[in-house]
Amino acid sequence: MKKVLIVGGGIGGQSAAIALKQIGIEVEIVEILPQYDVYGVGIIQQANALRALDSLGVADEALKRGCPYAKVKMCSSTGHQFAETGTPPIGRFPSHNGISRRILHEVLNERCETVGVQFRMGLTVDQITDKENGVDVRFSDGTTGSYDMLIGADGINSKVRKLIFGDYFPKYVGLSVWRYAFKRPKDLETGYMYFGKNSKVGLIPMTKETMYMFVVSAEGADNPFIPEDEMIPKLKSYLEEYPIPMVQDIIDQITDPKLVNYRPLETLHLPEPWYKGNVLIIGDGAHATIPQLGSGAALAIEDAVVLAEEVAKQDGTEAIFSRFMNRRLERCKLVVEASEKLGEWELLEYEGKSLPEGANIGAVMGKTLMALTQPI
Ligand SMILES: Cc1cc2nc3c(=O)[nH]c(=O)nc-3n(C[C@H](O)[C@H](O)[C@H](O)COP(=O)(O)OP(=O)(O)OC[C@H]3O[C@@H](n4cnc5c(N)ncnc54)[C@H](O)[C@@H]3O)c2cc1C
Repeated sequence: MKKVLIVGGGIGGQSAAIALKQIGIEVEIVEILPQYDVYGVGIIQQANALRALDSLGVADEALKRGCPYAKVKMCSSTGHQFAETGTPPIGRFPSHNGISRRILHEVLNERCETVGVQFRMGLTVDQITDKENGVDVRFSDGTTGSYDMLIGADGINSKVRKLIFGDYFPKYVGLSVWRYAFKRPKDLETGYMYFGKNSKVGLIPMTKETMYMFVVSAEGADNPFIPEDEMIPKLKSYLEEYPIPMVQDIIDQITDPKLVNYRPLETLHLPEPWYKGNVLIIGDGAHATIPQLGSGAALAIEDAVVLAEEVAKQDGTEAIFSRFMNRRLERCKLVVEASEKLGEWELLEYEGKSLPEGANIGAVMGKTLMALTQPI
């Protein structure tokens, strides 16, 4: 194994590039965006994500430029705290690190530069021809290339997946997330979640000075388009349900509709195996989860680490990919299915329906997050 093409230079693609380059593989990334424009709201990295980032040599930098915190305080919409949750720390890695997505991206990008990953921006693959000992590729600018292995890390709407496996479409789960970045209030010492009748609100520190808010809501089964001029009034209307200083004191900072990051939530399960011949799909392209457990990116980073560990064993591609599947399938399935379950229950609550007997949100969260602390 000498030369690998990675399609998609997001969190999973850059992580895979770093991991492979670290073991001496020549790696090229093609990224469809001419230049990155990563939005500045945050992302939660649980301890297992930090452990995987450490294998890439960037955990300390991510912690330095983010904001580690131990607990998530679970509160009613009126601010009464009824529980505390959190991923258990792993070794020296704290339970969580809140970090701006833009900064996480920069941290990975700088590491790519240090280890010598080659990027080709504004480019995708138009044709993939799988051969016995590698793949031939035609790019969207008409150039061609030959590689020993191709990794599709091009996200939930993966083109590589379509070229290799045909049509698989993400499933909208009936929920959406609204996100916005704020100055951090002095009393936000850890993560907070507030549970209302129509939504849930999370406040997550990103640095000493900043935090981001997420609001999960049910926008209807038809996944309606929300015009830009309705973004702020709609977001603020959800926040009316939370008459507490931590929420009410920041509402005036919501002023720019372009900074409201609105995302309908979707999942995707690519049936196993996630490979054919010399092409493997990793990250959201294979197992996209909704963010109810804040673990989708963690899975993509872990995919990258496991892939490089298997490639380092210097086997044939089939053996590498097959061991990769053995190590990844159940873990990724657990997160996607548990997140779907949590999303289903949330949706029932926002629709005013009762939860199925035995539904236990805390137990599902706790069990899944505990499982993720196990070695990969
Ligand atoms: C609202 C929300 C909140 C989330 N919060 C968290 C969280 O707190 N913690 C967590 O761990 N995870 C979270 N996630 C999940 C996380 O964002 C994803 O799991 C993660 O980004 C997946 O990484 P990826 O590299 O597979 O895909 P992506 O990050 O989507 O990267 C794909 C890359 O491929 C590029 N690309 C796309 N198509 C092509 C093409 N045809 N050719 C070339 N390049 C292409 C894209 O431009 C992009 O750079 C959240 C997700 C959502 C939707």
